[in-house]
Amino acid sequence: SAAPVSVLGLGMMGTALATALLDAGHPVTVWNRTPAKAGPLVARGALPAGTPADAVAANPLVVLCLLGNTHVQEVFDTLGDAVAGRTVVNLTNGTPAQARELAAWASEHGAHYIDGGIMAVPQMIAGPHAYVVYSGDEQAFRTHRPTLAAFGGTKWTGTDPGLAAVHDLALLTGMYGMVIGVLQAFALVRTENIPATGFAEPLVAWIQAMLTGVPEWAGAVDSGEHLTDVSSIAVNQSAFPNFLTAYRDQGISGELFEPFQALLDRAMAEGHASDGLSRLADLLRAN
Ligand code: NDP
Repeated sequence: SAAPVSVLGLGMMGTALATALLDAGHPVTVWNRTPAKAGPLVARGALPAGTPADAVAANPLVVLCLLGNTHVQEVFDTLGDAVAGRTVVNLTNGTPAQARELAAWASEHGAHYIDGGIMAVPQMIAGPHAYVVYSGDEQAFRTHRPTLAAFGGTKWTGTDPGLAAVHDLALLTGMYGMVIGVLQAFALVRTENIPATGFAEPLVAWIQAMLTGVPEWAGAVDSGEHLTDVSSIAVNQSAFPNFLTAYRDQGISGELFEPFQALLDRAMAEGHASDGLSRLADLLRAN
């Protein structure tokens, strides 16, 4: 029979995680700060726990998904002896340093710690495109991987507990870069009453075409060889004022893009005119 699991945190994501476990046939114990949110899960057979310590005591595997890691630490601080011997899988979004601190806390309290980053929205959980990146206690991960597979793919990133957060934040960084570009593009076309709905198709096609260059950039970033025959920093730095000027002329804010002009200017000042844009990844590293 399927392994029992405790789920702490029943927000949009925690509810999706608990639901996926129930769907996969796991007995599930649930706790949420606001108890009413457990109602639909309890109606489906989940067992409600009165406190986080009760939930953690109930099962060897504990999944947490709270708003932030400060809340996770607050919950940890209420657990007392209940956490000893447990495997805690923290799927709350956070930083590598927070994950390392929580792992150290767990280790001091005799618990196994796995950190995770969810690459999905709640509606995608248990579907074909959802996966979670994990890091931390590898033996505990091996033991519980079949259970964690209820959420979707399970991608191991390493024993340093901070690695899942690095992967998660880096993937989301790429996403937010795309979000920023899409929002600015829509804001710009709307200044001329061009419908964003009509502009979505060429925008997606263009972004997809440009994404094919990413593996080549990756090679340049790894090798430090940024010379390009595609598009130089000089030509981009020269064209970029057109963007900022047009934003201003059209009455939209350039606040998301002004820092990019500053970085292009610095790349020129530091002698990288002939390099490709991949050079900027190096310049972002503080020395
Ligand atoms: P919600 O806002 O829906 O849920 C937040 C949860 O955190 C609730 O269970 C809430 O309890 C709990 N919480 C907040 N403050 C405290 C506290 N002080 N003590 C105890 N519990 C607290 O957020 P989501 O479920 O969407 O997100 C949860 C985590 O999952 C976040 O870290 C998020 O970044 C991550 N995530 C979310 C994704 C998404 O698409 N939604 C995608 C990938 C990751 P209460 O019900 O009592 O308020």
